Amino acid sequence: MPDVFADLVGQDEAVTELRRAAAAAAAVLRAGAVDRAPALIAAGDADALDGDTPAGGVDPAAGMTHAWIFTGPPGSGRSVAARAFAAALQCVHGTGCGECPGCRTTMGGTHADVRLVVPEGLSIGVNEMRALVLRAASTPSGGRWQVVIIEDADRLTEAAGNALLKAIEEPPPRTVFLLCAPSTHPDDISVTIRSRCRVVPLRQPPATAVAEVLVRRDGVAPDVAQWAAAAAQGHVGRARRLARDPEARKRREAVLAVPRRLTGVGAAFDAASALIEAAEAEAAASVTEADAAERAALETALGAGGTGRGASGAIRGAAGQLKELEKRQKSRATRAQRDALDRALVDLAGFYRDALTMALRAPVAPVHTDTAALAGAGAQKWDAEGALRRLEAVLACRAAIESNVKPRIAVEAMMLALWKG
Ligand SMILES: [Zn+2]
Repeated sequence: MPDVFADLVGQDEAVTELRRAAAAAAAVLRAGAVDRAPALIAAGDADALDGDTPAGGVDPAAGMTHAWIFTGPPGSGRSVAARAFAAALQCVHGTGCGECPGCRTTMGGTHADVRLVVPEGLSIGVNEMRALVLRAASTPSGGRWQVVIIEDADRLTEAAGNALLKAIEEPPPRTVFLLCAPSTHPDDISVTIRSRCRVVPLRQPPATAVAEVLVRRDGVAPDVAQWAAAAAQGHVGRARRLARDPEARKRREAVLAVPRRLTGVGAAFDAASALIEAAEAEAAASVTEADAAERAALETALGAGGTGRGASGAIRGAAGQLKELEKRQKSRATRAQRDALDRALVDLAGFYRDALTMALRAPVAPVHTDTAALAGAGAQKWDAEGALRRLEAVLACRAAIESNVKPRIAVEAMMLALWKG
């Protein structure tokens, strides 16, 4: 029976470290040490203890610490790792067996002592963080640990980061914080938070490992799994979508048709519009349903349509709450659009990367096997230099959007650069 770490694809070193930490955490609980003294590694000492902990004769807490950062490229499994580790901490055997109630409820997202923060807007606000920190300080109802998982910790606002820092600096004895971020660069995570956490770096999983998990876990046919794993460039979730969702495949094909559509200035602008609109449509499809459900739930909770004494005051309050909801939903939609556009740009970058490696005759497999012939033709026409310039144009577009250049402006500039070369 696969345990909770089974879906962490191609991350053997990280899994070894997390297993050891979970075992140490279980030993701490068994020894009853946790409530007597701050037995977990004191803040800031975590780094000194990275690496092997000799068995026996050491403080059982040595393998464990109360604040962790999981880093790695998108799709490498940061949040999968955090959730698996949370399950192992709640596991009644202390191993992450995958079968006990602690493991099962954590993996199912219903464990009372595991809180997951998924920012839906562009950033995590200070109020949300304060409330979370407060709840995290309570005694775990299951008798083990209070675990707080913060996905996209790089999207914390500065004030929220400070609220979190305070909690990490003076952690309640039974609370464990698991942060996920692309890297430990100061742009992603503040230096002070980073200095209080142990870092678990995840790598981009190899395509063979991704294909293997698609076959084993999702029942995808081996040849489809191999194609999807390569096309997704190490992004496990994306590989699964490509393997199973025909719409996702269609969108990818449309993106990869861009290079041959760039025949002139007008075509470049058309291609930019098409790319932006496709991202908008994809984002709308992903959030519309959630938006409507949330609004209906809020209206029900507010008892829409009430009359009588006090109703007008209630309506004023309700209008405020609806407005707040709309604001949140708008910010979520913006983020979904950016994510969709970014996925498209990563696909496009893969195409020019293929052209570049072919021009250099590098002995590596193409990212997009289905457009390899087209990339080969590009390699002949542009040479390595031209392919590299185009690849750089795509990467520059991603960077520009990341630094808040309007997506349409950035994409138009990119398309012109791709056309001109
Ligand atoms: Zn278990």
